[in-house]
Amino acid sequence: MIRRLTALTAVSVVLLTAAAVAQERTAFPDKRGLKLSEFPRVVKLADNVYGYEEIRQPGFTTVSLFVVGRDGVLIADGQGSPDATQKMLDAIARVTSKPVRWYVVGSDHGDHTAGNSVLPKNITYLVSRASKAQLERDAANPNRAPTAPPVIVPPAAMAADRQTLDVGGIEVQALFAGRAHTGGDLLVYLPKEKILFMSEVFLNRVFPAMRSAYPTEWVGAIDRALTMDVQRFVPGHGFIEEPAVSREELIEYQKALKYVIAEVNRLHKQGLPADDAAKQANWGPYKEWFLVEQQGPIAVRKVYEEIEGRLK
Ligand SMILES: [Zn+2]
Repeated sequence: MIRRLTALTAVSVVLLTAAAVAQERTAFPDKRGLKLSEFPRVVKLADNVYGYEEIRQPGFTTVSLFVVGRDGVLIADGQGSPDATQKMLDAIARVTSKPVRWYVVGSDHGDHTAGNSVLPKNITYLVSRASKAQLERDAANPNRAPTAPPVIVPPAAMAADRQTLDVGGIEVQALFAGRAHTGGDLLVYLPKEKILFMSEVFLNRVFPAMRSAYPTEWVGAIDRALTMDVQRFVPGHGFIEEPAVSREELIEYQKALKYVIAEVNRLHKQGLPADDAAKQANWGPYKEWFLVEQQGPIAVRKVYEEIEGRLK
């Protein structure tokens, strides 16, 4: 008990303030002037609305969102292991004693769901149809097994593109803006606070990760996000930014997607096999972004699939 209380003091809530000197725009913690020992950290975004940044391998952040309503807490995206998700639940418990009641699956990838087995039982899971299928496959994995049956967003009738929740005095919308990073991507919108949590649809200064992506549709999903009444766009990886910077960085991220698609199209037109194209790709202004060596060749293969009509 005492050990637990000691641990409880370890995480504090930070308020991001406009720095006197320009903040370097990067997903690398050290280049940003941050030590790994400063993580995880809770970032206050508005009254009762918080971001949660934790470092994952190989050293960039995975971001979750949590909203504290009168009746309970809504989480958008978990972390990548039972330990990491438990650490997040502990951090939430230091902010509020209210129970977790809702969980939105923004991304169904393991780095956001592989700790789902420690989420409280009988909470409401909000997922897209595509991600529901993934969660059903995850049920066989003890670390990832959902703790309650998922509820589909949008409703099965597809009459609406979003589901609105009243999280005890705070309106939260889970919405599908089109296939992007996973195909089941959900965004979480707080209309009054003008905050849009984008999960893996926005990888801030992380090279476009396309293993299960829909490259051109992804560009369109960001177009739709940019037309919404939003002050702060919150990424699923990379750092949470100040409101004005967050819009600039989302636009920059969309430019990176367009650049990657155009560069791979250029190589495809030369008749290069994908492996050769991956070696010759020039990632231009994005060659310094986090994960470029790992994700560059994967993006080449995925854009080839799209060009050749093999992406369903
Ligand atoms: Zn991820």
